[in-house]
Formats: sequence, C-alpha cells, structure tokens
Amino acid sequence: MDEDYDIVIVGGGPAGLAAGLYAARARRRTVLLEKGVIGGQISLTERVENYPGVEAIGGFDLAQTMLRQAESSGLETHYKAVLGLERLNSLWRVTTDDGDYRAKAVIITSGADYNRLDVPGEERLIGRGVSYCATCDAPFFAGQEVAVVGGGDSALDEGMFAARHVAKVYLIHRRQELRASRILQERALADPKFEFIWNTVITEVLGEEQVNGVRLLDLPTSEERVLPVAGVFVFIGHHPNTTYLRSLVSMDEGGHIVVNEWMETDAPGLFAAGDARQNSARQLVTATGDGATAAIAAERYISDRFPVE
Ligand code: NAP
Repeated sequence: MDEDYDIVIVGGGPAGLAAGLYAARARRRTVLLEKGVIGGQISLTERVENYPGVEAIGGFDLAQTMLRQAESSGLETHYKAVLGLERLNSLWRVTTDDGDYRAKAVIITSGADYNRLDVPGEERLIGRGVSYCATCDAPFFAGQEVAVVGGGDSALDEGMFAARHVAKVYLIHRRQELRASRILQERALADPKFEFIWNTVITEVLGEEQVNGVRLLDLPTSEERVLPVAGVFVFIGHHPNTTYLRSLVSMDEGGHIVVNEWMETDAPGLFAAGDARQNSARQLVTATGDGATAAIAAERYISDRFPVE
C-alpha cells in the first residue's frame, strides 16, 4: 500500500532539510527520504565557517540541528533509498527499497557526489586533510602547503581561493594543458603561490591521523616521488545523483536537472533544489535557499491544483 503525503522530499542534505522545514511549517504532510547519512556532503565537513549567522560549527552538528528543527515543525524522516518516480494522474508515486509513497508534489534534493581519485588513503583521510571544497576548508590550512588536483575551472577557482590562505598550492594535473577557461588560467599562472606539476597523478594520499603528503607518479617517465603537503583538495568533476529520474525531467548533459527560478522542473509538481539542479553555486547557503524556494513553490502548486473542498 502506498503511503500518502502532500510532499515527498528525496535526499536529506541541506537543500532537503530546508525544504522540509518550510513544507512542514506550511502544515503540509511531508516526508523526507534519505538513503544514507543526514546532511549529505556537509556531514563530511569538519568545520563550517561560511554559513551566515553561524560563526563556526561542525558540519555533522549543523545537519543534526537542521534535522531537529525541521522535525520539531512536523517533518517526518524515513531512511530509505529511492529507486524511481512515476506519474499517477495528478499525483506522483515514489518507489523505494522499502515501500512506495504517493504525493501531490515531490522535491528532488538528492545532491551530487564529488568524483574521487580512488587511491589508497583518500577515503580514510576525508576531513583530515582530504577535502573537496577549498571555499569551505582552505582557511584551516593557513600558512601550510597543499596540493590541488585537476585542470578545470573548479581546480583553478578553488585553488586561487586556497592560495589566499595557504603558503603554497601545488596544482597537480594529469596533462600538460589546462581545461579551465583562459581567464582563470591566466590568473592562476600569474599567481606566485602556484606551482604547476604537469603530466602527474596522485597514486596515494599519505598520513596516519592527518595528511602529511601525497605519492606522485610522473606519467611520461613513470618516476614516483613523495610531495609533503598538509592538505589535498580534489576537483576532478562531480556527478549529480539523478539517474533514478531517467527521462522524467529535462536534464543537462551532466545529468543536472533543469529548473526555473522557482525550482520548478518541466514536469508538473516536480521540483529540484541544491546540487542536483543545473547552475547551482554548490554552496551550503545556496542549497538551503533553493530548498526553501522549492518548498514555497510546491506549497503554491498544491494550493492551486488541489483546492480544499
Ligand atoms: P571539469 O571541467 O570536468 O574538469 C575536471 C578536471 O579534472 C579536468 O582537468 C580533468 O582532466 C581532471 N580529471 C578528471 N578525472 C581525473 C582523474 N581521475 N585524475 C586526475 N584528474 C582528473 O570539472 P570542474 O572543474 O568541476 O567544472 C565543472 C563545470 O563547472 C564546468 O563546466 C566549469 O566550467 C564549471 N565551473 C565554472 C566555474 C567558474 O566559471 N568560475 C567554477 C567552477 C566550475 P582532463 O582535463 O585531462 O580531462
């Protein structure tokens, strides 16, 4: 038997939690479905210092606070993996690994995962020197030397942000040519804190409790060496968690959901917010803003389409 809700939210990161808070406060029967840990990427962030009004807080604690706040307003949270969605006349059916839901509106906040290097040491040292967000974590490496991996816009943009805080940025790229836009290339190449290490990949992240270096492989010569660094920032692309939506909504080539400024997709009653949507700034504060916008839009959609008799 399907469980009936006004709004189903798919994904318990900051966008989903903000949407849940707003939907519950609008007195809509709302359930948030999360397959793993509440907070998403933010739960892996050691310290958050760029959320306005909160000077410093652990990412896990911030997510738990958001959850408590939303649940105390009436949000329900179920720990289930969403497998797919289908349209049922004017409603949506959300299928999970443990039962199905019917909803008047669905808000997709399933986020994105950073691509990982997939080398020994990386997973174990996440939050202990391995980071996927310099904007969030570079200030913790003030005066130290760090490695930044990747040759795209993110690597250069975030690397230059890191350079404002750290003593030195080693930009490690697997080719001799950058993929990033010309203007970012010019700026990074002129930045005195940058040293480029070309045609090189990281084969291991080193350190027991904290990162203390990376093992490098020079591709043309196959020579290995250890580079001592206190941090490793990885920017080798990311992938939105949207494959379960298949062809239900328009997406860009990378699988990000296309939305308008109200977070509406081109499917009626289906909204998307946070890193899963196209053109997201991929920040905690923008994700929560998106989530609130989506919930307000979903509330209006329900009021218009399902008037109380
Ligand atoms: P991206 O453009 O896909 O670049 C990823 C980089 O990582 C590439 O240089 C790639 O190398 C490298 N890479 C991929 N897999 C790797 C691996 N396994 N090991 C080592 N290196 C690997 O991703 P992005 O930089 O995150 O940018 C994504 C999108 O956001 C782009 O459209 C970008 O323009 C946009 N963006 C814009 C801005 C801005 O305008 N300020 C800032 C951030 C992002 P190869 O070059 O050899 O393939």
